[in-house]
Amino acid sequence: MSDLLVNIAFPSSALRQLFTYRINPENKLPVLSGQRVVAPLRNTPTIGFVAETGIAAPENIKLKTIIEIIDPEPLIPEDLFRFLIKLSNYYLAPLGKTLSAAIPSEYQIQKHRQIFIIDPRTDSIPKPYLQLFAKISSADSIPLSSLKRQFDKETLVRGIEILKKLNRVNEAPRFSAPQHRPLTQKRILLADNFVATRPDVQNLKKHANRQWEILEFLQTNPAISQQDFNKFSLSAIKTLVKKQLITVNETEISDDVFWKDILLKEKTVLLTDEQNLVTEEIAQHIGLDRFAPYLIQGVTGSGKTEVYLKLIRKTLAMNKSALVLVPEITLTTHLASRFRGEFKDTIAIWHSHLSGTQRNILWKKIRDGLYPIVIGARSAVLLPIQHLGLIIIDEEQDGSFKQRDQEPRYHARDAALMRAVECRAVVVMGSATPSLESLYNAAIGKFQKLELKKRYSEAPSATIEIIDMKAEWKTTGDFENPISRLLNEKIAEKLDRNEQILLLQNRRGYSNVILCPDCGWTPKCRNCDISLTYHKNAATLLCHYCNLVQQPPTVCPNCQSSKFLYPGFGTQRVETCLQEAFPNHKIVRLDVDSTLKRGFSQRVMREFEAGHIDIILGTQMIAKGLDFPNVTLVGVLNADIGLFMPDFRARERVFHLLYQVAGRAGRGKIQGEVFIQSFNPQDITIRFAMQQNIAKFTALELNERNPINYPPFSRLAAILFSGLNEIQVKEAAETCTHYLKQHNKKLEILGPAPAPISRIKNRYRYLSIIKSRKDADSNGTQLRRALKSFLASSVHQSQSRQVRISIDIDPMDLL
Ligand code: ADP
Ligand code: ZN
Ligand code: ZN
Repeated sequence: MSDLLVNIAFPSSALRQLFTYRINPENKLPVLSGQRVVAPLRNTPTIGFVAETGIAAPENIKLKTIIEIIDPEPLIPEDLFRFLIKLSNYYLAPLGKTLSAAIPSEYQIQKHRQIFIIDPRTDSIPKPYLQLFAKISSADSIPLSSLKRQFDKETLVRGIEILKKLNRVNEAPRFSAPQHRPLTQKRILLADNFVATRPDVQNLKKHANRQWEILEFLQTNPAISQQDFNKFSLSAIKTLVKKQLITVNETEISDDVFWKDILLKEKTVLLTDEQNLVTEEIAQHIGLDRFAPYLIQGVTGSGKTEVYLKLIRKTLAMNKSALVLVPEITLTTHLASRFRGEFKDTIAIWHSHLSGTQRNILWKKIRDGLYPIVIGARSAVLLPIQHLGLIIIDEEQDGSFKQRDQEPRYHARDAALMRAVECRAVVVMGSATPSLESLYNAAIGKFQKLELKKRYSEAPSATIEIIDMKAEWKTTGDFENPISRLLNEKIAEKLDRNEQILLLQNRRGYSNVILCPDCGWTPKCRNCDISLTYHKNAATLLCHYCNLVQQPPTVCPNCQSSKFLYPGFGTQRVETCLQEAFPNHKIVRLDVDSTLKRGFSQRVMREFEAGHIDIILGTQMIAKGLDFPNVTLVGVLNADIGLFMPDFRARERVFHLLYQVAGRAGRGKIQGEVFIQSFNPQDITIRFAMQQNIAKFTALELNERNPINYPPFSRLAAILFSGLNEIQVKEAAETCTHYLKQHNKKLEILGPAPAPISRIKNRYRYLSIIKSRKDADSNGTQLRRALKSFLASSVHQSQSRQVRISIDIDPMDLL
C-alpha cells in the first residue's frame, strides 16, 4: 500500500527534514507533489506541501494520517516544483520554506483558532467571563480573532482558559484562504475633449490657481490616483468636473497599475550590424529546447535593450514565454517603457510596489498562461511561468539579485540558470560590467560571451576626470562643502544651457555621524555595533541596521560640551548644499528614504524626462539603467565610499558603480562629461574606473583573489551564528567549525570570528567562512556535503536553541 504514503515539507526553518504520512484510503483523487495539505505535526494540524508521493513505508513507525487536502490540484506546476527542489538543495534551504517563497503570501492559507461550545450551561462560570461565554454561545463556533476585537486580552486569555477547564468550550484550528475582493480605485483624468489652449482654460491659469494646478498636473501625468487626491483642492476638483474639463472614473485595481503611469515608448528600430550579429547568434538557439547560456558584455549605451526585445520576439514566435529579470524595476522606467511600447498588454510586471492582492491576481494569471512575457525583480524567477524559452538577466552583477535575509538565500542569476537547465531554455545575462564570476565562467567556457563594443549614439563617449578632494580642501579650507569648485562651475554651465545633471553620493541621511570635537564621542546604536546616522529632515539619529530612532543629544554625554560636528556627507546634506548653491533650479533626491513613497521614483523619472527637474542627486540606485539623452554631466561626490569595506568584493562594487554611473552621461547628441571627486585620487580601482578599463581591473582583481582562494576561484559559504548571549554564540560557532574541519580536511575554513558588524538588534554575531576551490570541487558538492552532514549531526541537534545558525551559500557580502 506504499502509494498511500506521502512525504510532507513544512515551511519552517527549523524543519529541514520531510515527514511521512498516510493518506486516508477513502480519498479517491490522486495526491500529487506541489499540493498543500493539513497534517498533524506534533499533534498540531499544520500546513505543508506534498513533496514526494509513493513512499515506501518505513518500518516500525506508526504513521499519522493527512487531515485534509487543501488544493484540488497542485498549486505549484510540475516544472517549477522540480526547479524549487534543486534550488532548495543548492542553497541548503528547507524545502518547505523554498516552496512557500514561491507562492504569494496573500495566497497562503491562514490558520485560525476557532472556539466552540461543548456544554451550554452557565453555572459556576465566574462573572467576568459570562459575557464572553454568551458571545461564544451565540454561534456554533467563533474565530478567536473576532473575539479579540470585543474583549480585552486578559479577559480573553484567562476566560478561554477557565471555560476550557470547566469543559464548556474547546478550540480547534480552522484553515482558510484569505478572501480577495476586487478592489476599485478612483482616478481623475482629463476630459476627452480637453483643449489646453481654449480661452476659458487659459483664464484659469491666471484666476483660479487651484483649478489650474490640477489641469497642469494632468497635462504631464496620465492621471491623478486616489491616494493623491488630497494634494489638490477638493472644491477645485468638483468645479472642474462640473465644467466637464476633467472626469473621475472608477476602475478595478488590477495587476497593471504600474503601467498606467508609464509612458509607452514605441520606436522602429533597425539593429546595427554589431547588434544583429549578437542577436542572430543567440536567436538560433531559441525554441530548440536546449539549455544555452550567453553573457553579453556591452558598453553602456550599446543597445542591449534592443537586442533583448528582438530575442523576445523570436521566443514568442516559437510559442514560448520569456522572463526578464532586472535589479530595480521602478528605476528602470526606460526599460519598462520600451518593453511596454513593444509588447503592450502581453507583458506583466512583477515589482515590489504591488499590493498583496495585486500579487495574488497576477500570480494566478501568470500561472494560467495569460502573460507570455514577465519582467520583474529578483523574486520573479520563482513565478509559475509556463513554457519558458528565454530568461534575460539585465545587469547580472547587481547585488540586489541576492536574497540575503530570508531563506532560500538565492541569487536570481544563478537561480535563473538552474531554472533554465530544468526547462531547457536560453539564458542571456547582460551587463556593461559583468561580475568576476560571470567573466570567469565565460573564460572557462561555461557561458558563451558576446560583445557589443560600440555605443549607439553619435556622440563620442563621455570624458572622465578625477578631482583630488584632499588638494581641494587644502586650498579652499572649506570642509563644509562637498562640491569642488570645478564641479560647481560645471554644474552652473550645464544648467545655463538647460542640460541635465546626475550627482551620485552613495550614502543616505545627512551626516554619517555626529562628533564631539572636544572628546571624539559619537552616538552609537545601543542594539548594534554601529554609528547612528543623522537625518536632518526629521532631526533624528537613525540606525540603518535596526531602524532605531533617537533624538540627537544637546550636550555630549561624555564631556558635556554642547557643540557638535557633522563630518561626512549623506544625500540629505548634499541636497541642502546644492539648494543653497543653485536656489533657482529643481533638485530631487533619490535614495531609500525618498523612494519609500509608492510611485515617487516613477514620477521623478517622468518629470526628469519632461525636463521639469534639473538635477537628480541619488545613491547607487541612480547608477544603472537611466537613459536620458539630455544628461550631459555626471558628478560623483565621493568615490571612496565603500572602497575600504572589510569585504573582498568592495573594490569590485566601487568599480562597477563608477563605471555604470559614468555611462549615464552623454547618451544623446552632446558629448557628456564625468567628474569623480576622491580623497584617494591615486587609488587603482578609481583610476581604472576613470579609464573605463574593465580588462585591467579584472586582471588585477583576479590576481589578488586567486592565491587567497576567493570567488570566482572558489565557492564560499558563510555561516552566521547569532544570539543574545555572546558566550553561547561563540561556543556554538566553535563547535560547528571544529566539526566541519574534522569532516573534510580539504576545505579551508576561516573563523569563527566576530562578524565585521559584531552585533545587530542586540544579537551577537560570529561568522565562519568556508572556501572550496572550484578546481577541486567544481559543483560545490563537497562544501554542501560537509554542511549537510553537520546539520544532520547529533553535535548540531544537541546545540543550544538560543543560537541561530544561518547558512548563506555564495554570499554577496560578508558583514
Ligand atoms: P544599454 O542598455 O546597452 O546601455 P540601451 O539599450 O539603453 O543601451 O540603448 C541606448 C539608447 O540607444 C536607447 O535610447 C536605445 O533606444 C537607443 N538604441 C540602441 N540601439 C538602437 C538602434 N539599433 N536603433 C535605434 N535606437 C537604438
Ligand atoms: Zn541598530
Ligand atoms: Zn565630548
